[in-house]
Amino acid sequence: MENLYCTSCGRGVTGDKFIRFLCPECSKEDIIRCQVCRKNAKIYVCKKCGFTGP
Ligand SMILES: [Zn+2]
Ligand SMILES: [Zn+2]
Repeated sequence: MENLYCTSCGRGVTGDKFIRFLCPECSKEDIIRCQVCRKNAKIYVCKKCGFTGP
């Protein structure tokens, strides 16, 4: 099984308590956000293109 980590805080995520989507800029990198970062609208950074979003 794949280990997934929140892109914003690095916390491991499990179950359905996170969202996963492709970078809106380059569509090549999976952005993963845990529940906490979603709630706090934490900034994420795409590792591929450097795009940042809330
Ligand atoms: Zn997080
Ligand atoms: Zn990107």
